[in-house]
Amino acid sequence: MDFRKRFRIEPGSKGDFSAIDPGFHEPHANDVEAAADLQHNLTRITNLQRGLYAERKHSLLIVLQGIDGAGKDGTCWHVIGAMDPQGVEVTGFKQPTAEEREHDFLWRVHPHAPGLGNVAIFNRSHYEDVLVVRVHKLAPEEVWKPRYDFINEWEKLIAVENNTVILKFFLYISKEEQLERFRKRLDDPARQWKISEGDYTEREKWDDYIKAFEAMLSRCSTKHAPWFVVPSNHKWFRNLTVSQIIADTLEDMHLQMPKPTVDLDEIRRLYHQTVKAEKRGA
Ligand code: AMP
Ligand code: MG
Repeated sequence: MDFRKRFRIEPGSKGDFSAIDPGFHEPHANDVEAAADLQHNLTRITNLQRGLYAERKHSLLIVLQGIDGAGKDGTCWHVIGAMDPQGVEVTGFKQPTAEEREHDFLWRVHPHAPGLGNVAIFNRSHYEDVLVVRVHKLAPEEVWKPRYDFINEWEKLIAVENNTVILKFFLYISKEEQLERFRKRLDDPARQWKISEGDYTEREKWDDYIKAFEAMLSRCSTKHAPWFVVPSNHKWFRNLTVSQIIADTLEDMHLQMPKPTVDLDEIRRLYHQTVKAEKRGA
């Protein structure tokens, strides 16, 4: 299945994702059946990112958004982990600092846009400024409303000017699944540190968040920077989908290893000459 086609929000569409089932997992029945495909995708990502890094002609920006517990951290771990850390920068966007608040909302984001050859991962992103800010009225409507256009312009700028391919994943879980994940966190000492009271107050605003997500998806899925809504109740399906979309996208870049800058025959001669000389000397 072409997950890119299946889960892409078409530019100009309504962004209504009530029709999308967060529990969707076709064509596989379970994680065991999907394991080989996932591994294949991860291997492709490993090899292709090497090419991206070596060629240094493109860059890739991956944006991860989703409600608390949707699996943003898990996606980094399971999918982005296939990449060479040397060519990757992961940035988590938290509540703005005092200095960040004294600037426009993109000020803190732009320095993390990927340079040529690199991959940037945004764990949360500039979209928080039309999500949490809108839901909690942290800024008045006349401030957040123009931001959809500013975001589209900014994404277009880095796409066109710096050859940045942008993939934006909205990890979609159901309300029931979120509560189940909160329960598991409570019982898991390795994840208890992630628990915040805010998780529950945010949950109360679920419907407001859905509205804000829909506005974000309908206003900001563009040719340069499409949104994908990833059914994420099943972690294995989320990993499969995100990894496949990244691998297919990297493949479409037709990355080429750069040509050697030296005359290889000459270097080979030099090598053999060195081996001989050192043997004689030993
Ligand atoms: P976490 O991702 O769980 O570490 O939480 C980060 C928190 O920072 C979330 O509650 C976000 O909503 C919040 N946050 C991120 N960006 C912004 C922003 N621009 N304005 C206000 N809150 C934000
Ligand atoms: Mg959290």
